[in-house]
Amino acid sequence: LPTAAPGATPVRALTIAGSDSGGGAGIQADMRTFALLGLHACVAVTAVTVQNTLGVNGFQAIDPPVVADQVRTVVTDIGVSAAKTGMLANSAIITSVTQVCTELGIGGDGGIPLVVDPVCASMHGDQLLATEALDALRQLLIPIATVVTPNLDEVRLITGIEVVDAASQRDAARALRDLGARWAVVKGGHLRTSSHSPDLLYDGETFLEFDHERIDTGHDHGAGDTLAAATAAALAHGWSVPDALEFAKGWVTRGLQAAYPLGAGHGPVNPLW
Ligand code: PLP
Repeated sequence: LPTAAPGATPVRALTIAGSDSGGGAGIQADMRTFALLGLHACVAVTAVTVQNTLGVNGFQAIDPPVVADQVRTVVTDIGVSAAKTGMLANSAIITSVTQVCTELGIGGDGGIPLVVDPVCASMHGDQLLATEALDALRQLLIPIATVVTPNLDEVRLITGIEVVDAASQRDAARALRDLGARWAVVKGGHLRTSSHSPDLLYDGETFLEFDHERIDTGHDHGAGDTLAAATAAALAHGWSVPDALEFAKGWVTRGLQAAYPLGAGHGPVNPLW
C-alpha cells in the first residue's frame, strides 16, 4: 500500500475491538497491521480480555455508551477512511456500535467501508461474544457491513450452516448476503480436510475464490483479526473489496510463514517480514 511521506498525515483507519493482553490478536493485531501498512490506527476498545498464549481467562466489557463515544470522538476529529469491528462481547455493544456507525456514515450503502469480523470465540474455544448477541449481529451489524469475514465456526453460529465442502461454502456465502452484508467472505482456513484454504467471496452475483497454500503452523493466533485489518487498510486506500481481500490474504500468508512460538501455547502471526 502507498505510504505517506514523513511528516504528512497518513490514511486513518479505526478498529472497534477487544484488547488481547498477550499482544497477539484483537486490537494489538489490528494496530500492528495498520501501522506496518503505513496507516494511523484509531482504536475504540470494546472489552479488555485477560489472556495469554494458553487462552482467555476472562474479560471485562466496556460500557456501550463509552464504546460509542470513542468512535464518535475519533471519527469527528481525526476522520477515518475505513473501520473494522472485532470482538464486541455482547448485544448492547453491538447495538451501540451499529447506531454510532450509522450516525457517522460508516458502513451501509455508499458509506465509509466497514469490515465486520464477527468474532465469537478464541481458537481455544473461549467465548468472546455472548450467545444472546448472535441476533444483534444478524439483525443490526451484519446488515450495515461492507464485508463480513467469518471463519467456519462463526458461519455455523450465525447461519446454522455447517461448511464441509465447496457447495456448503457457497450456501453459507448466500446466507450471509441474505442478512444484508454487501460482500460475504467465507474463510476456508478451518476446512481441515483441504490442503488449501480457499476463501470464498460473494457479492450476490459472482463467487470469487481466493486460494492460497495452507500454512500449517501451531502459531496462528490473531490470523483472523489480521486478515480483517489488512482488508480494512486496503479499503481505506480506496481499493475494491476483491482487491483488498487478495492483498489481505497475501499479508496473512506472510504472517503465518513468520509466526513465532510464544509462551506455552499458541504464538501469533507475524506480518512484520
Ligand atoms: N482475543 C481477542 C480480543 C480477539 O479479538 C480474538 C480474535 O478475534 C481472539 C482473542 C482470538 O483470536 P484467535 O482466534 O486467533 O485465538
